[in-house]
Order: sequence, then C-alpha cells, then structure tokens
Amino acid sequence: MASLKQGEFIGSLDCGTTSVRFIVFDKHADIVAQHQLEFPQYYPNPGWHEHDADEIQQHADKCVEEAVKALEESGWAKESVKVIGITNQRETTVAWSRKTGKPLCKAIVWADSRTKNTVAHYEHKLQVTGIEVSPGVWKKGQDGIDALRDLTGLPLSTYFSAIKLRWMIDHHPEVRTAHEADDLLFGTVESWVAYNLLGGVETGVHIGEVTNASRTLLLNMTTLKWDPRLLEFFGLRESILPKLVSTSEVYGKVAYGALKGVPIGGLVGDQQAALIGNKCLKQGEAKCTYGTGAFLLFCTGDEIVKSGHGLLSTVAYQAGPGAKPVYALEGSIAVAGSAIKWLRDSMNLIESAADVNTLAAKESDTGGVYFVTAFSGLLAPYWDPGAAGLLIGISQYTNPSHIARATLEANAFQTHAIIQSMKLDSGTDLKHLKVDGGMTNGDLAMSILADIGGFSVVRPEMRESTALGSAICAGAAVNLFGWDLNKPESLSEVNTKGNRIFESNLPEAERKKRQDGWKDAVERSKGW
Ligand code: ADP
Repeated sequence: MASLKQGEFIGSLDCGTTSVRFIVFDKHADIVAQHQLEFPQYYPNPGWHEHDADEIQQHADKCVEEAVKALEESGWAKESVKVIGITNQRETTVAWSRKTGKPLCKAIVWADSRTKNTVAHYEHKLQVTGIEVSPGVWKKGQDGIDALRDLTGLPLSTYFSAIKLRWMIDHHPEVRTAHEADDLLFGTVESWVAYNLLGGVETGVHIGEVTNASRTLLLNMTTLKWDPRLLEFFGLRESILPKLVSTSEVYGKVAYGALKGVPIGGLVGDQQAALIGNKCLKQGEAKCTYGTGAFLLFCTGDEIVKSGHGLLSTVAYQAGPGAKPVYALEGSIAVAGSAIKWLRDSMNLIESAADVNTLAAKESDTGGVYFVTAFSGLLAPYWDPGAAGLLIGISQYTNPSHIARATLEANAFQTHAIIQSMKLDSGTDLKHLKVDGGMTNGDLAMSILADIGGFSVVRPEMRESTALGSAICAGAAVNLFGWDLNKPESLSEVNTKGNRIFESNLPEAERKKRQDGWKDAVERSKGW
C-alpha cells in the first residue's frame, strides 16, 4: 500500500430510505469511489413502515469499509478522505437507551401512517385545551393550529417525528419506561448515525442537526432551539432530546473503522442536502428529488415564508454554529418512485423500474386514466391522511401502457400542484426546476414532468446531489477547496458537467384540461 497516492477528498454517507451509500467526491464533485447497500424494510401492518436502526448502522459501516477499499484499489490512500458528511432520510424516528446505546424498538419511517389516531388526539387537544404560548395564555381552535404552525412551520401530521415518538411512548412499554426513567434518547437518523460513529454509548455524544430538527414539530423555527411549549404540548421530557448543532461544523471524529479519526463536518437532512447539492442556495431557487417519495424545496433565503397553501416552512441550512439560518418552502409527495416499484413488484407490469418508461412510451396519452397514487394518504398540498389510492377512467380500451403513463403523470400533476402553491405563497413563478433522484433516470418521466408542469426540467449529469450536499457542508466546515455556503460562487467549479434540459411541449389548453381531470380525481380519492 506504500505506493498509494495522497489526494484531497470528501466522503458522504447517504442514509436513504431503502439504501445506504458512501460516496467519495473530489473537489469537482467527480466520484472517486462508492459503495451502496439496500437494507431491509419492514411492513408489519397496513400503513406501517419500519426500519431496524441497528441494521441501518451496520449497512452504513459496511458501505464505508467497502468504499474505502474501492478507493484504495483505485490507487488512493484512505487518508485522502479529509472529512465526511452525513445525510439522511428525515423524520424517521429512532428511540434508544442512554444506558445501553441500543434501539428500544424498530424505527418508524417517515412514510408510516399508523399514527392517525395520535394526530387526531393532538388535533382534539388543540381544539379543546389548546397550546400555552406564554404563561397563562392559551391558543385553541384555529388559533391553536396557527400557533403550532407559527412555531414550527409545520401542520400536525403523521409525518413528523414528535407524533411518531409519542406513538412509541404510548405503545411500547420499553420506550415508555425509558422515558419515565430518563433512559430514553430520541433522534432522527443523522442523530443515531452520528451517535454511533462518534463512539456510541462509550462517549454518549447525542447531537441532532437543525434541518432534521425542523421536521420534528419540536423545534422553534425562528430561534432554532427546542421549544419548551412544544415539549409540554406533546408531553415529552427535554432530557430525551439531542443537543442541537448546525448543518456545517466539526462535531467530532469517527471513532472506529477504516475512517477512524476523520472529522465529521456535515449533518443534513436528505432534501436540504439535495438543495445544497443542486446549489440552490439563494432565494427563488428550487429543486425536486424523485426517489421513493418526491420532495420539492424552494429556497426563501433568510425569510420564513408561511404557506397559506399547504406547504411547509423548513430550515434549509445553518452554515455554522450561530449562523443565521436559511429557510425553504417544501412540498412532499409520499409516493413517487415507490409507485413504479409497485407496478414492478405487486402488479408485475414491468421487470425493472426503468421499464416503466418503455412501457409508457407505447402510448401517447393515458387514454383518460388518472392514477392518484395515495397509498398512504396524500401530502402536499392536499394533506389528507384518509385519501385512498385511486385508478379512475378505466375502460375496455385501457392497457398496461396507459397505467404506466398515468403513474408517471401522477408524479407530474402533484409536482405541478406544489409549484402552484409555491407561486401563491412566494409570488415567484418557477421557470426551471432542478431535479435528481432515481426516477429522473427516465427521460420519458422527465418529458412528462415538463409537459404537465409547464416549466423546464433541468437534470444534471451527476445526480448524486443529496450525497454531494452533505459533502459540501462537510468541506465547508473544514474550509476545504474554499467552499463556503455563504458564497455560492465558491462552488462554481463543483458539478459543472452538462445539464440536460427538458422543455414543456404540451399546448396550454391540453395541459389545463389534464390538470383539471387530475383535480377531479384527487377530490374523489379524498376521505376514503
Ligand atoms: P431513495 O433514495 O428514496 O431510496 P432513489 O433516489 O434511489 O430512492 O430512487 C429509487 C426510485 O426510483 C425507485 O422507487 C424506482 O422505482 C425509481 N426509478 C429507478 N430507476 C428509474 C427509471 N429509470 N425511471 C423511473 N423510475 C426509476
């Protein structure tokens, strides 16, 4: 190994919903080495979706080891990795023991909708007792809903971590006992992975990063602190919460494995990471990531834009301890690529996800079919946990290609609805949407998106934007390559390889007709 070259690289550990990957980037965001592993998904009941947090960690560790091996095999010393960043599926809730460092139950995944009753309970509480916003001052009914939204940027929904954590405490005796005995540690996935990489129970470093925290319903969006009023509302003890850290700073060094001693310099929720990786750092820039679900983030700069149209306000990033936060508006689609997987695995219409494009290309339209892919309710901008999946407009004429096309269109219609909401909230009409994620590999999927949406779709050649985002945060934390989140121009040499642009070709009248048909179909899927 003596002949290995020394370079300057950044590692990014991307802990996604279905897989974990570790990617080593150079200063241009070219990939030097990588490794990816899928990990088990658990669906024990309808609407439930779980992960084993230990399995996430084991797969993450294995990816790091294998990617470092690949790096060495391509002639580079592992010491070339100067810093690592971690990015993660957000909202997914992990509960573990302070004493043992072990998970107390399976993690509840963001898309899991088992907590409908918990949401209903807190809705009722907001209506009847309300939330105490200052000593003796209670806001209830619509004022209560608005107060919660003002504090957190979020509505009450099955989606967010406090609701999932509350469910765990109420339904898992081990979690309840640990909560009462002050043995419970709560964290989203970045917190769990950082805890382990920084030494686990030995060192007990329990940190949580602000973009992730902004998805819990427990963070005050303005102060970027855990808010005691929210803890009181959800009946949670403060001692279970991680210490808040910024998106880009050195949190400590990796405690074991091939990268032992390497600083961890970035922690960032996956969608915010993709925003950063797409270099959408300034007000008015937006990206959408089409993976299992789809997530559209629109940067609003240092302003918290409160949505009147079903979007969330979220922290986009905090460039270092004490730095002024940058915010974003966000709209999420729960089912995007996972609908394609459903066509493949449950309907056997296609053999691989990529085949959806070939199948859909056999027809030039859906033959009047709409597919509302509300497998676990609908998120933005509709917010109906009771909405059911709906295929409508079927006749003798309908064939698998129509269904495949309707699946791709579902995605485009929901993206369009979110962008319309963003326009109403921010006053900015989006002309270009930057995209990444597994589903963007399909050219037809992207053409349909541009056609239905009525905007240009910009697809970079290197689309590991999520991993790149956390690498940028980590690089900036140690001042590598001059990268600076406050200076977008410092990233001008990053990921500059060609973009492919998909223009919208559908006549306006036809687009409008289809959008109206979609709205109608959505109404029929609601409140099932
Ligand atoms: P995640 O990070 O959420 O696990 P990925 O970004 O890896 O997801 O994307 C995986 C999703 O992309 C899958 O659900 C799959 O159905 C979809 N997908 C993969 N390749 C294609 C393709 N060529 N065309 C359309 N969809 C695709």
